[in-house]
Amino acid sequence: MTPLQSDSFPGTGASPHQSDRVSGSGATPPKLSLDARLGLDKYEIDEQQSHIQVDGERCKLCDLKPCLTVCPAGVYTWVDEHVAVRYENCLECGTCQLSCDNGGKGGITWRNPQGGFGILFRYG
Ligand code: SF4
Ligand code: SF4
Repeated sequence: MTPLQSDSFPGTGASPHQSDRVSGSGATPPKLSLDARLGLDKYEIDEQQSHIQVDGERCKLCDLKPCLTVCPAGVYTWVDEHVAVRYENCLECGTCQLSCDNGGKGGITWRNPQGGFGILFRYG
């Protein structure tokens, strides 16, 4: 009998570091890009207005710029010396507001999208 490896998941033989693999098939699914993963959710985009506002003057004083790294959807990017916001990709988690208020300069004003707009999560 083969001893169970201490770093394996019982019954799978898979390392915890390989948890994104398909168990039993031997096949490793292709890694999805961020845009492809975001495409699995459904959005009703408010073309008229963004639910995220950024105060560029505060951003100029912000050394850490945590918004550029904390957002799981990559909504904030640094382009031509200012913070660009792709609000249409927002997952509505609220992380950016917290990080900006606590590690940044409070430049973000985030509100829920208007009724009927925003993300619709699809499970399964
Ligand atoms: S964390 Fe806030 S203040 Fe700093 S760059 Fe980002 S939006 Fe601007
Ligand atoms: S609420 Fe979440 S997903 Fe939306 S912009 Fe902020 S950090 Fe990104």
